[in-house]
Order: sequence, then C-alpha cells, then structure tokens
Amino acid sequence: MKVFKFGGASISSIERIQNVAKIIQQYKGEKLLIIFSAMGKVTNDLEKVASAFYAGNKEAALSLFYQVKQLHLDLFQQLNNQAIAELSNIFTEIEWLLHDKPVRDYDYYYDQIVCCGELLSTVCISEYLNTVDCKNEWIDVRDIFRTDDNFREANIDWTFSQQKVNEIIKPLFNNTDIVITQGFIGATDENESTTFGREGSDYSAAIFSNMLDVESQTIWKDVDGVMNADPKLFPAAQIIDQLSYLEVIEMAYYGAQVIHPKTIKPLQNKGIPLLVKCFLNPDLPGTIISNQPTLNLPPIIVIKEKQVLMQVSSRDFSFVEDSLVAKLHDLLLENKIRPSLSQNGAISLLCSMDDRPEKIEKLALAASEFFDVQIEKNCTLLTIRHYNEKVIKELTEGRIQLLSQKTKETIQILLKTK
Ligand code: ASP
Ligand code: MG
Repeated sequence: MKVFKFGGASISSIERIQNVAKIIQQYKGEKLLIIFSAMGKVTNDLEKVASAFYAGNKEAALSLFYQVKQLHLDLFQQLNNQAIAELSNIFTEIEWLLHDKPVRDYDYYYDQIVCCGELLSTVCISEYLNTVDCKNEWIDVRDIFRTDDNFREANIDWTFSQQKVNEIIKPLFNNTDIVITQGFIGATDENESTTFGREGSDYSAAIFSNMLDVESQTIWKDVDGVMNADPKLFPAAQIIDQLSYLEVIEMAYYGAQVIHPKTIKPLQNKGIPLLVKCFLNPDLPGTIISNQPTLNLPPIIVIKEKQVLMQVSSRDFSFVEDSLVAKLHDLLLENKIRPSLSQNGAISLLCSMDDRPEKIEKLALAASEFFDVQIEKNCTLLTIRHYNEKVIKELTEGRIQLLSQKTKETIQILLKTK
C-alpha cells in the first residue's frame, strides 16, 4: 500500500485534475490512500472569509464565500458530476455559521470555515475519479482523525485515530483499491473541526502512512523535487536527489516550504521513505527522503520574510535575570509564538518571530509590563545549511545584519534592507 498526497496546485484546474487521474491510473492494481488539499488557492480565499466574518462583516464574508462556492459548482459541472447533495451540505453548514455572530476565539472559527476547502475538493474529485476507472471510497477524515481543541495547530490523538484507521479504513481496502480523503483537518471529541496548520496535508498523509504501515509516501508537487533554494528567488537552485530525514527536519524547522515540519517524524519512526515527485512530469525520479545519510549537500538556503525583531530590555539597567528570561519565555508560550531566532544579552533579549500582528501586539503589551519593548518590522531571516563564505557574502551584501548565529552546519542572519 502507498499513500499519495496531492497539493492544491495539482488540482487547480480541470486539466490538472484530469492529469492527476492519469497519474493514479498508472498505479492500477495497487492499494492507494490518497489525500487531497483544497484546490489552488482556496485555503487563502477561505481565510479571507474567516477574517471578514470575525470582523463582523457578514455581507463581505458571505460574498467571499459565494466565490468559493461558485468555483466548486463550476468545477463540479465541468467534471460532469451528479451527486450535488454532498456539496450542498458542505455549503449550507458554512453559510449557517456565517449568519451567526462570533462569540468564540478567531482560531475556532478559522478552523470551522477553512476546513471546507478540502471537503469540497475531495467530494468533487472522488466522484470524478469514479467515472474514469479509478473506483474509490470517499472518507470524511474528521471521522478518523481525533485531535485536541488547539485550533489551527491541533494535535492528533494517536491512539484513538489509529483505532479508527483499523476499524474503518483498513476494512475498506477489502473492497476497493483507492480511498480518498482530506489532508489538513481533523475533529475534536465534540465534533468541532480542527486543522493542523497551513500546509498540514503532508502531515496528514504521514499520519496515515504510519498508521497503515505503507511501503512509501509520495507528495506530488509542481517542482521536479526538493531543491536547495526557492527557484523563484534563486534561478540557479538545483534538485537534490536524495536527502536524509534529519536534513529535511532541519530544513523544515528553519522554514523551508518543502514539507510541513511535522511530516517526517511519523515516517522516520517506521522507516517509510518519502518521495517528492512532480505531477507535471511523473516520470522524473524526484527526491527520495529516507534513513540514508546524505553527504556533500550543496548550501541549502531558506528565506523567511516578514519577520519582526523584538528587543526587550530591563528598565533599570539591571541584568536580565533568569526569572525575567523565564517570564518572556512564558509570554511567548501563552501567545503561541515560537521565536525564529533568539539571543540573550546583558540587559536585553532579542528575538525574531513571524509577523502575526494580533499576536505580536498582545505579546508586546504583556511584555511591556516588565520590560522596555522595541519592535522592528519587515526583517528577513536568512538561513543557510552547509554554508560557505562565498554564499554568505552573496546573500548578505548591502544589507544590515541585525542578529546572527552560527553552528557548524547552519548560519542564520536576520537582515534588513537599507
Ligand atoms: N489547504 C491547506 C493549505 O493550503 C493545507 C495544505 O494544502 O496542506 O495550507
Ligand atoms: Mg498546499
């Protein structure tokens, strides 16, 4: 058995969906559990629906949602699908919610709204695949993946979910070769929808791979494989044929948009190889990620834009004591902020983080009770694994270096354009 994950770009148009069907047909006779993301940029569109709703702009939220709805209805028609009831149920559920007034946290509503992207895409695609000789069973993954209620960053309940996989998913394969389900989403014990964070479908696929003990997992992307840098920023970026789990965990940790950071552990724990292949050119070998250590890697470059540097200093010029460091740490945890880089000085602490304005404001306000707080926005965090002096120079020339840290393998520099 294999697990496949197709991301939003692979199903962003009717032609691409037909292309995906062709890829799946090439695996005839094999057992496949296939995870799909939301189509194209639908998750971004749904995020806008959630923001408008939470800001009290009901009309805007409904009209933004209408566009998402229309997109799927058009697709549904183009695919000659028939079973409209399932789509309608999903639409209705969201529209009901949008008529309410928000009384809970933003993150809760975000998950209730945004989760429909993958439900809609999989309903459309499952039915289409049935008509092109890819008979499949569609599963609402919220009946399988139980999570806690840490909305937008939910944690899976491994024991409960494994039990559901055993009870529901495994027997399905007695009657079908293909099971289609959603990435990114799960549900709490109160049937509230949850998500694993943006790009979380890779992680969903890895959970299934682990629970089903599959022979391999393939992530189908629009690039030829994992590259050592973002080719949009660095035209000379190159494909890496082979990577170790460890290297990929490091890359993801530093913010490379290759694979969701939580994806590797479930695969590593069972020694399941991860293939990254190109849906536009399925014959290419792509990248294989496994236990094999990798040597002689080129410099791997990760750029994180929209970073905020926060400097907190003790007011009375006293040294930053351990208890104050701990205090700041608590505030970061409370606000669910993970610094991308941090450094302690004598009377001040520096840390950079993703610019999530609502969280940063809360954090800065709370920290200002104890410290002087300074914020510098619009910074860029550059990380280079397997660096050399030449590449550092190339990438930092003419820019201000606000903070930097270096180990044997990795250098990180927080930059600001002059
Ligand atoms: N649809 C979600 C996103 O765009 C999850 C995913 O694609 O992995 O972030
Ligand atoms: Mg995606």
